[in-house]
Amino acid sequence: MFYRKLFIILFVFLGFLSCKKQDPIIYPEIDRSINITDSIKIDNGVDMKNPIFNYVDLENFLSHISSSDHFLIVPLKDFKNTASKDKVVISLRHDVDDNIKAAVKFAYREHKYGITASYYVLHTAKYYGQKVGAVFVRNDKIIYYLKTIQDVFGHEIGIHNDLVTLQLMYEIPSREYLKEELAYLRGNDINIVGTTYHGSPYCSIYHYSNSYFWKEFGDTTQYIKKGFKTIKIEKDSLTSYNFLYEGAMLNQDYFFSDSYFVNGKRWNMNMVNFDTIKPGKKVIILLHPQHWNGDY
Ligand SMILES: [Zn+2]
Repeated sequence: MFYRKLFIILFVFLGFLSCKKQDPIIYPEIDRSINITDSIKIDNGVDMKNPIFNYVDLENFLSHISSSDHFLIVPLKDFKNTASKDKVVISLRHDVDDNIKAAVKFAYREHKYGITASYYVLHTAKYYGQKVGAVFVRNDKIIYYLKTIQDVFGHEIGIHNDLVTLQLMYEIPSREYLKEELAYLRGNDINIVGTTYHGSPYCSIYHYSNSYFWKEFGDTTQYIKKGFKTIKIEKDSLTSYNFLYEGAMLNQDYFFSDSYFVNGKRWNMNMVNFDTIKPGKKVIILLHPQHWNGDY
């Protein structure tokens, strides 16, 4: 009789344990808001509407890779020159695309786990600026967001290249524009050495890639047809802008990206058992912070 009771109690207890999927992450009140300036604050709350793309899932992943001896995490600027015999080298690449606030919330969480990642700011996004008349006018507040990601949370900042789009759709000379923007950003102590190219919706409409801007990619496309117009695209070298790398030109063993769909589902970290990747391998994981922020 006693053993039967004990068995039932144990059974109920184990049942309780198995239901408890993950520990809730407690946010101290101070972390519920991230202050960018006295007037700009970001609500850092947790949106749990999506069962996979939410901050609890993200933090479980960050906690795992940062606490395991199996991994060595470096920003993309150090990826090429980092090798390890006994660890898997991982770089976390984040193309900021349309939502800079989502990037700050991501940056906060990585910093919490001691992770340094790389964020590529999209120079044609609304948060960066907009076209007024014939010119693209920068939103100078962008600097405060970038400084928070770089200086408060310790990450790398790079440029998310939409330069062919800039020339084609905004009719702005792309080389001159890039020189000016880099001078502004670097002049404000944003340490930019890398770039990644953006897959703009216009790319599929007019059949081009923003990688065409870089001579290093070796693409021979000179002209793009836009309606009745044929436009000769500007090209240049990474070294002309003191870029040390383009993210897509780095050599890695595995590249994972939430841009891809697997069996109709957006790729996410739960689809891979990273522990099974052999030491010595190098991995780049591209995550768009906006997917974790409730906009998919
Ligand atoms: Zn992009």
